[in-house]
Amino acid sequence: MMSQVPKIHLDRVSKTYPGSKIPAVDELTLDVHEGEILVLVGPSGCGKSTTLRLINRMIEPSAGRILLDGEDVTEVNPDKLRRRIGYVIQQIGLFPHQTIAQNIATVPGMLGWDKDRIRTQVDSLMTTVGLDPKQYRDRFPKELSGGQAQRVGVARALGADPDIMLMDEPFGAIDPITRDRLQNEFLRVQGELHKTIVFVTHDIDEAIKMGDRIAILGEGSKIRQIDTPERILAYPVDEFVDDFIGAGSTIKGLNFLQVGSLKKIDYPTITVSEPAETGVARLDEAHQEWLVLVDEAQSPLRWIRRDDLSGPTPRTGDIGEEIGELLRTDDTLFHALELMVESASGQTVVVDAHGAYAGVVDMTHLNRAIRRAQLEARLHYEELEANA
Ligand code: ADP
Repeated sequence: MMSQVPKIHLDRVSKTYPGSKIPAVDELTLDVHEGEILVLVGPSGCGKSTTLRLINRMIEPSAGRILLDGEDVTEVNPDKLRRRIGYVIQQIGLFPHQTIAQNIATVPGMLGWDKDRIRTQVDSLMTTVGLDPKQYRDRFPKELSGGQAQRVGVARALGADPDIMLMDEPFGAIDPITRDRLQNEFLRVQGELHKTIVFVTHDIDEAIKMGDRIAILGEGSKIRQIDTPERILAYPVDEFVDDFIGAGSTIKGLNFLQVGSLKKIDYPTITVSEPAETGVARLDEAHQEWLVLVDEAQSPLRWIRRDDLSGPTPRTGDIGEEIGELLRTDDTLFHALELMVESASGQTVVVDAHGAYAGVVDMTHLNRAIRRAQLEARLHYEELEANA
């Protein structure tokens, strides 16, 4: 159970734009926990950006309250509020006539930090987002690529070390390869900084990748499902969510399960120096056709069969079958599926963190793991419903 006060709490927040009859955000109640990335995802026009802009009061709510660390900030001076909150948008909005360093120093400058402190902070933030300060500090935004400019946007939002970051499609306008890299870098940075982040996207795959939790929103910012990506993939609560996730939810869910969680087939092993008859005995005992030949450190070398055990010891290299790419216990089941599809037998050998043989997995194991994840998610929702 989450006992602390949520970092951000929206309490029946609504926003109706002037001249509109339908609220863009309709009585939204939402908690964001300290240190998590909560992704708001939903179709275009459903109210994601409006929700984000309500949190730092770029726009004022028509009704409801917003609490940060349990404190009602609905009446706080919005300028003061925004210094606690970093904001990154797709169009970046760097000031074109200011250098990169000046852009990043915007909020520290507003806060009246002294020059040395600002310079140290700017250099450290540039390094954090992967830009060499010496090379880029004095450049202007137009001298940067899209990806570099977006890094500066992130660095600027981190300027005065805010504890909350709001990110509105931050990587939306960037080519897929750079985007993937920026997402990975950002997750690495977040792994060190542990900011509380609300991240808006219309792209479910980005949501799945970036979110500790995902809120799938419908019209009026209504929450249709809010949960971890793995549970949403394992158990979309209704057709709206299912449609929004689209095809392949089961396959995508495999990214959240690890090979270590599978029960494995325990094929017998034989080391290169053991007598062949030991291998025969082990095959008989295990009622198996195949053995895994391992070296002295228990690293798998070849698949071998009973017929390969005719000599005094199994010889390496020239008997049996290639073992193919090995799976590690910390690999995802998505990777496992890939290797199984590629391998002739559909079976894949698993090694532990030290490279030692740890068993064999096949499609049946994968299938069971998927079913187990789906069942657990369904039971979780049934329990929630029963307690409601
Ligand atoms: P999303 O970010 O999910 O695409 P928005 O929050 O931008 O959705 O918009 C939600 C709804 O509010 C839309 O119907 C949009 O047209 C409307 N809207 C957004 N901004 C304004 C504005 N400044 N004035 C009037 N209507 C707006």
